[in-house]
Amino acid sequence: MRLNDLQDVLAHEVKDLYSAEKQLVEALPKMAKAASDERLRKAMEKHLEVTRQQVARLEEVGKTLGTEVTGHACEGMKGLIKEAEGLLKENEPSEALDVALISAAQRVEHYEIAAYGSAVAFAKELGHHDVARTLQQTLDEEGQADKELTDIAESRVNQRAEA
Ligand code: FE
Ligand code: FE
Ligand code: ZN
Repeated sequence: MRLNDLQDVLAHEVKDLYSAEKQLVEALPKMAKAASDERLRKAMEKHLEVTRQQVARLEEVGKTLGTEVTGHACEGMKGLIKEAEGLLKENEPSEALDVALISAAQRVEHYEIAAYGSAVAFAKELGHHDVARTLQQTLDEEGQADKELTDIAESRVNQRAEA
């Protein structure tokens, strides 16, 4: 996509995120299914529902900006999902796989946090305050998902320490 100004960069960011979130809607059920830990599985199922809402939010943002959200493939998310699916292919469910899944899921969240953070900044600079607020809502959700994954990983470590 040819970028001429910040408006174009924001439009590109929104298209990239739309592709990323759509790919995640496909991948999260497989990741959740492979999780042995109940809390991890539930967190992934919950984030799937949240991700569906994020897709809808991006469609709304696209309408406001007058830009088509489809037509771009996010290669970054494609790579992150490919790595996670590699883990699933090569491993039966286990505690070790759970730990690796948490790490893979946190990579996804951090990728999204970087992209939404940029998009919010661009929207603010352009004076699209409604769009900035909508994207900030998603950014907050990604941060919460990341924090929950850290909590799950740490509670597992604590359980270990108690055993
Ligand atoms: Fe997301
Ligand atoms: Fe991307
Ligand atoms: Zn997310």
